Amino acid sequence: MDANNPPRGECRQCWQHAYDRTVHAHLGPREDCPECVAHMGGRHPDHLIVK
Ligand SMILES: [Zn+2]
Ligand SMILES: [Zn+2]
Repeated sequence: MDANNPPRGECRQCWQHAYDRTVHAHLGPREDCPECVAHMGGRHPDHLIVK
């Protein structure tokens, strides 16, 4: 899976956070990723969705 090349209809940010482990590398074990929290419940900004 290419972390920087999500398929159509996917959220670029969520895709990258899911497949590129380095994105969350700076977080502590119990620390939430603010960007992932912001997208929780399907709240992905339209400009991040691959068209
Ligand atoms: Zn998202
Ligand atoms: Zn994240």
